[in-house]
Amino acid sequence: MSKRIGLYPGTFDPITLGHVDIIERAVKLVDLLVVGVAVNKDKRPLFPLDERVEMVREQMEPIAGKSGVAITVAPFDTLLMRYAEEVNADIIIRGLRAVSDFEYEFQMVGMNQALNDEIETVFLMADARYQSIASRLVKEIARLDGDVTGFVPASVAERLAKKLAG
Ligand code: ADP
Repeated sequence: MSKRIGLYPGTFDPITLGHVDIIERAVKLVDLLVVGVAVNKDKRPLFPLDERVEMVREQMEPIAGKSGVAITVAPFDTLLMRYAEEVNADIIIRGLRAVSDFEYEFQMVGMNQALNDEIETVFLMADARYQSIASRLVKEIARLDGDVTGFVPASVAERLAKKLAG
C-alpha cells in the first residue's frame, strides 16, 4: 500500500499550542506529514522564515517519536496547490477555529478543487482549550508585555520575549 502523505500549510508566526494540537491530530491520518511554512511576505511576519521553520521543527520531535509518523518541516513560496503536488500530498490539512475561519477556508477549498480535484482538504478542530489561540493575538499580547505561556510552547514564549525586547 502506498504511503498517505499530508500537507499542513501555514504561516506559523509563531507556532502556537493550537497548531501543535492540530499536528498531533493530523499524524493520526497520514504516514508522512509535511508541515509547510509559507513565506507570506504580504502578512509581514514578525519572525523571519528560517526562525519560523526552526520553531516548528523544535516541536516536532516528540510528536514524531510518539506517533511513529515521519514529519518534515519545510518552507514554501509557491501556490499552495503546486506545493501540495510537489510533495505528493494526498490531503491538505487545515485547522478550523470559529465561524471566522470558515468563510475564508470555504473559498480556498473551492478554488483549490478547481486547480486539482484529486487532493482533498481535511479540516480538524483543536481541543477546546486551544481553539481561540491565534498567532496574531499572541503577538499582540506579547507586545503589551502579557503572559503568553498558556498559548505557545515555552521556547517560543522565550523567543517572543527576546525578539520584542530587542
Ligand atoms: P494562515 O496564515 O494560513 O492562516 P496560520 O499559521 O495562522 O496560517 O495557521 C495555519 C492553519 O492552522 C490554519 O488552517 C489555521 O486555521 C489553523 N490554526 C491556527 N490556529 C489554530 C487553532 N488555535 N485551532 C485550530 N486551528 C488553528
